[in-house]
Amino acid sequence: EHSARIGGITPSGKDGWEVHFTAMTRKQAGEDIMMLSVGDHDFDTPKETVEACKAALDAGFHHYTQLPGLPALRVAMAKVSTRCTGVETSAAEVIATPGGQLALYAAVQGTLDPGDHAIVVAPYYATYPGTFRAAGAAFTIVEAKAENGFQPLAADIEAAMRDNTKAILINTPNNPTGAVYSRQTLEGIADICRRHDLWLISDEVYWSLPADGGHLSPRALPGMAERTLVVNSMSKSHGMTGWRIGWLTGPADMIVLLVNLNLVSTYGLNDFASRAAIEALENDWGVAEIAALYHRRREAFLDHVRGMNGIRVRGSEGGMYVMLDISAIEPDCEAFAWAFLEEEKVAVMPGSSFGEAARGHIRISLCQPEPVLAEAAERLKRFVLGHR
Ligand code: PLP
Repeated sequence: EHSARIGGITPSGKDGWEVHFTAMTRKQAGEDIMMLSVGDHDFDTPKETVEACKAALDAGFHHYTQLPGLPALRVAMAKVSTRCTGVETSAAEVIATPGGQLALYAAVQGTLDPGDHAIVVAPYYATYPGTFRAAGAAFTIVEAKAENGFQPLAADIEAAMRDNTKAILINTPNNPTGAVYSRQTLEGIADICRRHDLWLISDEVYWSLPADGGHLSPRALPGMAERTLVVNSMSKSHGMTGWRIGWLTGPADMIVLLVNLNLVSTYGLNDFASRAAIEALENDWGVAEIAALYHRRREAFLDHVRGMNGIRVRGSEGGMYVMLDISAIEPDCEAFAWAFLEEEKVAVMPGSSFGEAARGHIRISLCQPEPVLAEAAERLKRFVLGHR
């Protein structure tokens, strides 16, 4: 008999994912389907990073690495954190993890005991509920509403507080909405954390794909460095999703404790991948190019969509996704996604897969070449015209 805990780690919003899985199966069977439902880059890791990894393999970097990450890797990660948050960050405030997901897992394990309570802002990334269930922690979902551009309201978060609330989890730039939290939004959340002595777990894996104003981390706000755990990753910024390299930034005394979690879980990162990651971080390989690419794709796609009657753009300021309110055409976003797949051979995610707040919406992934996105926009236009 398995543990109740492991049985409880179910994925969220499974229904909506059926559109994606069906489209995948049909594409693999040879059907010509545009996959605007996937959240992985359509291009490979930058050549320089791949070459650095090959050189590391040839140089004999085949061994165990230090549990918190290779010292030079932590230094390189801390430098990036300093640059992208504006807060001077030392290597002692950083722990390397196999991807942002493990950084998130560590943050939750490090802040919540079984029975403790957390607040999770929705729309959220699919793994969030399961990550709390794996820790035996309870959570309340607070909806960031579409009409507020998917910016969460501090009053809504505060209303969800319980006596045993220990942490708030946010994600900016956001998956799935593309919302980039404003300074006002983050200040409101920071104020709650300071007044109630809470941890803020801030998932910033899309840090390199911000809105025009640049990336703003809540760690940079007054009194927040000592209570913020930033989830970071090279997956999106450096085009390295399959390499599994991320990090968590937080107070040094918390990081020391989390090294013990690495001891009993991951046992450290891959040696040769770490060596390549150090160079990729130090040289910013791919970062500006990838950011420019997604910026271009977003602007081009939104240009197509803005003129469409019955469609409203919400959030969609940064990250890799665009969120469209299609409720004026079809209130049931799953029905919309199924019909769009049937009639136009385009797979998108119904917003309901990401929590209640995104119901009535579809999420478009920008992980496709520009001509594909342009064609998908044409098909969307035709579909919308046919359904009004
Ligand atoms: N957090 C968010 C919001 C994501 O969208 C993803 C991946 O899509 C992750 C975390 C995990 O990323 P990784 O583990 O590849 O760093």
